[in-house]
Amino acid sequence: MTTDKARAVLHELVDLFLEPEKLIGGMAATLIRAGDRPVDTWSWGNRLIVWLHGTSDARTFLQWKGAGRSITKGARAFFILAPCTYTVTETDEKGLEVKREKLTGFRAVPVFRLEDTEGKPVRSYEPPALPPLQEVATAWGITIDYQPLPGGSYGIRGSYSPTRKRITLFTEDHGTFFHELVHAADARIAPLQGGQDPDQEAVAELGAAVLARVYGSTIDRDAWAYIRAYHDDPAGAVRRLLPRVERCLSTILGELKTPAETALT
Ligand SMILES: [Zn+2]
Repeated sequence: MTTDKARAVLHELVDLFLEPEKLIGGMAATLIRAGDRPVDTWSWGNRLIVWLHGTSDARTFLQWKGAGRSITKGARAFFILAPCTYTVTETDEKGLEVKREKLTGFRAVPVFRLEDTEGKPVRSYEPPALPPLQEVATAWGITIDYQPLPGGSYGIRGSYSPTRKRITLFTEDHGTFFHELVHAADARIAPLQGGQDPDQEAVAELGAAVLARVYGSTIDRDAWAYIRAYHDDPAGAVRRLLPRVERCLSTILGELKTPAETALT
C-alpha cells in the first residue's frame, strides 16, 4: 500500500521532471547554524583556529570537566583568544548611570580538542522532532547525527557513511534526511561508489523527492537542478534509473510493515 503510493508518486514526479517548468523551486534552507556547545558562541577567528587544529569542538579544561570529560594523558592544548573586558559605570547624556563593557585586549586561553578527551558522550544537536522514517534508519543500525554546519562547507547538507553506518545532517530539512536514507537503501542493494557518483546522486535525490511528497514534508532543494548538475541528459538519466529508485523506495517502505499488514499480504 505505502509502496504502491510511493510508486505512483514516483511516476508522477518523473512526468514533472520531464516538464521541469512545472516544478516549484526550492525553499529557503533551514541550516543548523549554532548548537549549544561553547565553540558555537565563539568568534569566527577562534572557530577558524579550532578548524585549523583538525577538530569541530574544543573547550577549556574546566569546560570539558563540566561536560563530564577529562583530557587524555599527553594531550596538548592549543590557544584561542578571549577578549579581556572590564565593566565601568558611566553617566550618560541624560545624567543616568549606565554600565559599559570596556575591552582592554586579548588573552590566550588554552583549549583541548574533543578527540583528546574521554568520558561522557558529547550530546550532539537534537532537532525538535525527528524526521519521518527515522525508524527505518534505526532498524538498519544507522545513527542519525545532527551537527551545526562546519565553516567553509557551503552547499553540503548531509552525508551518509556506509562504513560508519552514520547519517550526518547539517539541516533539519526532511528532504536531506530522505536523500541520505535513499543512499543507505541503495547501499543495501549494491555497494555504493565512493564520492559523488552521478547515478547514485540522481537516485538519492529522486527517491528523496518522492518521500517528501508521500510525507508532505517541505524540501529545501530543487531536485531537478540537483540531478541536472550531475547529468548532461537528466531526463534520460531519470528514465534509466527509475527501476533502481523503485527498488530503493520498496526497501525503505518495506521496513514499515506492521505485523498486521504482514499477515495480510
Ligand atoms: Zn548524495
